[in-house]
Amino acid sequence: MRYLLLPLFAALAFSCCGHEPAEQSVRLGAGGGAMASQDRGDVVTQATKPVQPVGDLEPSSDKDTPAQTAKVNNPKQKRAMSYNKLSEAEAFVIQQKGTEGRGVGEYTDHKADGFYICRQCNAELYRSKDKFQSSCGWPSFDDEIDGAVERNEDSSHGMVRIEIVCTNCKGHLGHVFHGEQMTEKNTRHCVNSISMKFVPAGVTAPPMLIVKQP
Ligand SMILES: [Zn+2]
Repeated sequence: MRYLLLPLFAALAFSCCGHEPAEQSVRLGAGGGAMASQDRGDVVTQATKPVQPVGDLEPSSDKDTPAQTAKVNNPKQKRAMSYNKLSEAEAFVIQQKGTEGRGVGEYTDHKADGFYICRQCNAELYRSKDKFQSSCGWPSFDDEIDGAVERNEDSSHGMVRIEIVCTNCKGHLGHVFHGEQMTEKNTRHCVNSISMKFVPAGVTAPPMLIVKQP
């Protein structure tokens, strides 16, 4: 891929993830390779509110289209009028493409067996078996659940990176990097903890919310 040729990888080796609008970076925290190093650490935030119970759902239908993605433990989808209600901090990252502070995310060093779903729409994104310790300060995975993640070119902050978003709801997850030789798959999905919710093995996840776009 052409991304492999980018000279910026050395500098980005331990970087992540998204954009941080200046007007919000002080309150919501800094972090991320795109930011000046002095901006790191004076953070702050992460989701403090639990995800609200899903509301405004229409009755589920047996006629719902089967998932296009490989599902781990959540074969059901549910049509809904809206996605899960997000806290301000969650919306900053997921909807405004912000970046959670380095090392503050609840899943950075999380090792339990299970899988990670999208905090906004419940789509299954990553398996714990694909999570690895990168020491970059954000949860790292070297593979995603098939079809769960979309990639977009991100040329913000004077560099070209590959943004990753949830395929179902387009919520911002982070960035994906290649060529760092951290795992055999040579891939690092650098994901904001606040974009995900962990579901332990054996626990049934809430249905993936399908919101019809206007
Ligand atoms: Zn989603």
